[in-house]
Amino acid sequence: MTRHYNFCSGPATLPLAVLERAQSEMLDYRGKGLSVMEMSHRSSDYMAIAEKAEADFRDLLGVPDNYSVLFMQGGAATQFSASALNLTGRGGTPNFLDTGIWSRKAMAEAERLTGAHLAGGSKSNGYTATPASDSIQLSDDAAYLHFTDNETIGGVQFDRLPEVNVPLVCDMSSSILSVPLDISRYGVIYAGAQKNIGPAGLTLVIVRNDLLEQAQDSIPSMLSWKVMAENGSMYNTPPTYAWYLAGLVFEWLKEQGGVEAMAVVNRRKAEKVYRAIDGSRLYDNPIAVGSRSIMNIPFTLKDEALNDPFLRESEAAGLLTLKGHRSVGGMRASIYNAMPEEGVDTLVDFMAAFEQRHW
Ligand code: PMP
Repeated sequence: MTRHYNFCSGPATLPLAVLERAQSEMLDYRGKGLSVMEMSHRSSDYMAIAEKAEADFRDLLGVPDNYSVLFMQGGAATQFSASALNLTGRGGTPNFLDTGIWSRKAMAEAERLTGAHLAGGSKSNGYTATPASDSIQLSDDAAYLHFTDNETIGGVQFDRLPEVNVPLVCDMSSSILSVPLDISRYGVIYAGAQKNIGPAGLTLVIVRNDLLEQAQDSIPSMLSWKVMAENGSMYNTPPTYAWYLAGLVFEWLKEQGGVEAMAVVNRRKAEKVYRAIDGSRLYDNPIAVGSRSIMNIPFTLKDEALNDPFLRESEAAGLLTLKGHRSVGGMRASIYNAMPEEGVDTLVDFMAAFEQRHW
């Protein structure tokens, strides 16, 4: 077996220990004579898996009792619409910070469904730094402020929370579980699973319970956080296997020392890549130092003709999926929790050797 280092932005690399555990339990889950995929979601065996996953997730992030944790489907993009419909039943306009492609997509969806107000963003600095709180201008009827903690494509991340007097709704798809959080400062956090949680097909939502009462009457049941909360995320058949795998990832995270320990490693990994970029003559990352993502690091090569050789040679060296998003060009290294530090060390060594060979 050969496992390469996979720098994909998502679906992303998973911890090897988790994949091995899933493999060992695949055909016969703990002597039950069937796989988790084949279990009724209402069976006591599956309920134990589901409840343990939620308890471990709550533990990892210190989710307070007055918040619900929902295991939903449809990806983070479904929450673009769900958040608008769940939070505007008593009127009010969703407000947004525009920090890049994902926040704009979230706003566009709300615009269609409920109307939306642009409260600020980083267009004026070319999306190279997150906006300061004193630049945010909420509408008078703001129902909440939505922001994207980490712009997966742009590589821009908030280093502090926006300070406003309305609930914060945060898309944390590419940064959840990477550093400790004070959940009580948020109204809602949502995240697609396929980066730091598990396989695609599952979306986690953390919602303060008083916000469960503000949905539009016409909201589809499958989008309603209240319906999901009242039914333990089993209003219909949940994505059972993805939920089980997420639970294995949460167990693995606890074995690593939890989110606090991951944060130390994540910051160190990111520093290594930024140092490699800043110390070179070939590579460039335009993001302001305080707004640099520790999860997704885009970089361009000063000679675009070297992009193809870089991709060819990195792949041959066992470094996969480094091609940047088409809107940014160049490369992007996604270094979520499950990317081992040795993977980052190998990347950094490759970057230096490539520069020496070609530049
Ligand atoms: N938000 C962010 C920050 C993302 O990175 C992504 C996916 N890359 C999405 C939303 C959309 O997620 P999904 O594909 O799960 O709908």
